[in-house]
Amino acid sequence: MDRFTRNDLRIIANRLERVLSSSRVRIEQFVNDGNEEEQVWSFIRVLPSSESEIMQIVQMARTQGWRMTPSGGGAMGSYGNIPRQRPVIVLDTHNLQNIIHYAPEDMLITVEAGMTLHKLQHILAQEGQMLALDPVCDEETTTIGAIVATAKSGPYRAHYGTLRDMVTGLRVVLGDGTAVKMGSHVVKNVAGYDLSKLFIGSLGTLGIITQCTLKVKPIPRYRELCALPGTLNEIISWQRAIMDSSLIPACFELMGEIPLLPGNTATSSPWTLIIGSDENEASARFQRDTLYQLAGQSLQVIGPLEVDDFWREYRRILGAASIVLRLQTQPAHIASLASNIQHQLKADHDITSHISVTLPEGIGRLFLKTEHVDEAKRALTRLRQWVQSQQGTLVIEKAPLAVRHGIEVFYSPRLQDGALELMQLVKDQYDPQHLFNPGIFVGGI
Ligand SMILES: Cc1cc2nc3c(=O)[nH]c(=O)nc-3n(C[C@H](O)[C@H](O)[C@H](O)COP(=O)(O)OP(=O)(O)OC[C@H]3O[C@@H](n4cnc5c(N)ncnc54)[C@H](O)[C@@H]3O)c2cc1C
Repeated sequence: MDRFTRNDLRIIANRLERVLSSSRVRIEQFVNDGNEEEQVWSFIRVLPSSESEIMQIVQMARTQGWRMTPSGGGAMGSYGNIPRQRPVIVLDTHNLQNIIHYAPEDMLITVEAGMTLHKLQHILAQEGQMLALDPVCDEETTTIGAIVATAKSGPYRAHYGTLRDMVTGLRVVLGDGTAVKMGSHVVKNVAGYDLSKLFIGSLGTLGIITQCTLKVKPIPRYRELCALPGTLNEIISWQRAIMDSSLIPACFELMGEIPLLPGNTATSSPWTLIIGSDENEASARFQRDTLYQLAGQSLQVIGPLEVDDFWREYRRILGAASIVLRLQTQPAHIASLASNIQHQLKADHDITSHISVTLPEGIGRLFLKTEHVDEAKRALTRLRQWVQSQQGTLVIEKAPLAVRHGIEVFYSPRLQDGALELMQLVKDQYDPQHLFNPGIFVGGI
């Protein structure tokens, strides 16, 4: 791996100061918690304030071969495989905070990529609108660019979809230092392939996202949740009944034992199904009555005044996990598969986890809390093979360096038939010198 001395970094920083003022070029240290000899690495954090400054930095990096990592402020921790080469430059997007264009009547907003999710939601709320995205993250520090680069989603994806449905366009600085516009800044105006979709979940390996155009939604007039505690078998039968009914839940999430219900109400059931309503009071009542037929007296209603607290607590509990696993399989099997993994983690590895599964999508996450690195590695390696034998996929979405060391975090049976070669071609096209996060994507791309 490239190793730069502090003196080398000082020389590089001096060059960067030709583009940015010295207060926006800082030499900092990264403390490695991995199984490597080197514990502390120095790097340069740059804080550009405009796309043209980013272009100049990338052009300079390109001529010198300096590796870079785009950063949204470290809100997400480290994602993907261990990088093949250390970044010399962390390109911090925090200063890119502006609204470029907002047309509430068109329900579209274009913002710079360093804007935090919290700030974006605040701006939209003033017009009675919202970005219908609810990932488990710290909204006050997580940037829109980092959310797009990691393809985050949350329980409301059951109704509103994912970032692929919300991002209509992006501006990106590519590896040759040019800025390109992808997709569209109006709804339904893309001729040919919408290349902006390639950047969703690309983990900053294809370019630096500088602007995002997003479709927004009206804030629901009445938001309510129904909690249906039950056994796993009951929940699986309710899942079928609800999917066969005329209900259109705003969220449809299976959760394990977490003290989330109002007043921390204890339930005797290890599982809870959370069904959301985002329409008006009459539809919420209809949904509530229908669910009451299924769950009877055990049904609990989380009213409009309690819903925000419920989700805040949900994010607080799940956000404390050190490892996040993403599980995918057929909707009919996801509940039992997730529960089986949770059981194996506890019984065979003494690892506690929380589950949050979007049942109709067949996608869920397990949030693990453990400090035992070797045991976690053993568990993940074994469980991923087992999940594959059950026709599922288990990806390590987030984990400390030490756990990811020596493990390919993307482990998907779908990566066959030339898919990796195609992805490598895309990388070579957008980032020919492999400046951005080299090696962290699928297959070490
Ligand atoms: C010297 C040094 C050594 C390191 N060594 C390692 C190592 O050995 N192993 C390791 O795993 N990590 C290592 N890292 C950390 C790794 O590079 C981080 O993932 C990176 O700094 C970004 O992290 P973040 O937490 O700030 O990302 P976040 O801001 O939380 O973003 C999450 C992901 O989105 C990407 N992203 C964020 N904003 C944008 C944007 N606007 N456009 C495009 N992509 C975006 C990020 O690059 C990242 O992949 C090292 C970092 C440094 C500085």
